[in-house]
Amino acid sequence: MSTPEPDTTISATPRSMTATAHALLRSHLVTMIRDAGPVSRSELARAIGLPRSTTTALVAELLREGLIAESPARSGGVGSGSGRPATLLSLRKPDGLVTGFDFGHRHIRVAVATGEGQILAEESDQLDVDRQAGEALDRARDLLMLVLDQAGVSPDELRAAAAGIPAPLNSQTDRVGSPTILASWVDLDPREELRRRTGLNFTLGNDAAFGALGEMTYGAARDFTDFIYVKASNGIGAALVLNGRLYRGSHGMAGEIGHTQIDPTGAWCRCGNRGCLEAIVSIDVVRRQLEPLDLDPLDPQDMEHPVATKVLAESGRTVGVVLANLCNTLNPEAVILGGDLASTGVHFTDGVRDSVRHLAQPGPALDTAVIATGLEGRAELLGAVACAAATPYAALSA
Ligand SMILES: [Zn+2]
Repeated sequence: MSTPEPDTTISATPRSMTATAHALLRSHLVTMIRDAGPVSRSELARAIGLPRSTTTALVAELLREGLIAESPARSGGVGSGSGRPATLLSLRKPDGLVTGFDFGHRHIRVAVATGEGQILAEESDQLDVDRQAGEALDRARDLLMLVLDQAGVSPDELRAAAAGIPAPLNSQTDRVGSPTILASWVDLDPREELRRRTGLNFTLGNDAAFGALGEMTYGAARDFTDFIYVKASNGIGAALVLNGRLYRGSHGMAGEIGHTQIDPTGAWCRCGNRGCLEAIVSIDVVRRQLEPLDLDPLDPQDMEHPVATKVLAESGRTVGVVLANLCNTLNPEAVILGGDLASTGVHFTDGVRDSVRHLAQPGPALDTAVIATGLEGRAELLGAVACAAATPYAALSA
């Protein structure tokens, strides 16, 4: 058995990270250089909260790929006077556009954006992605053609692509890693299927992981390095960002909080167990509960009905119990709620906050913040775009 590398070595060597965690860190770095640049390496290392060696290695990679440029600092600036003269890093205006795909359990969203992540066009469609893998992949290709047409650009202008998949991905193979979640995708190679349909090489990620990246780049997580992003829609999945990095676990299965057992005698879950969190709480369960009253969970006015407020608050409190346990384990700065349930209004978020306040142990300073996404269900799509925007030129169409 080989001796495990010490943590410092792992931190200093981007190649030892999994592909998605590495992509997430690169995207975060690119965003910081875009927002703060021109910026020195030491300022960057301080701002991102990572060891300088890790930042230096990632910066070297981005320089090699031509995503960023360096220029001499003015004399008298940071680092002048001794040692190597300081240089400042800034984002290069990359040629070419990028595309991001977001596959949910019941929807597909596709966007085309500039290399800096500015959305030019986006479209979405409802589809049973769980059970219709081939149709979902075909529809995603059609949506890509549509958004390219809307933006007035040709497929040749795309230089990178990324797609979020609503299931844990095996960190070695990038295939769906669970035979019980997204069963119709298990025998597929999603990257190859997408390449065959679009001619593009995709970076793949779990949908909640891309949601976290979307929040880090465009949303509520810009100031956090330790947070839990929860996508609560048809399923409930989480991304754990710890010390600025996505934690995927040994096989890419980390964050599957939807299959935490709440009630051993409860409703059967698609995973084969009983009483899982997502068998008890999901946007589908809420929709079924409110159907007799003809209330639409995605209509904010409907969700002020006294029955809806109770259903949503109770749903939030149930999710909050699981998150409070996770807060006691990980002590994050924030829990960020995304997905359709977070878009129903304040009552779901208030329910989550209620459980976290009551059940999570208070810290010496501030309690964990519970925040609803401001990205209106688009965090996963924006995360895919951010990932593609930081994908090297080498990942061009085949
Ligand atoms: Zn389950």
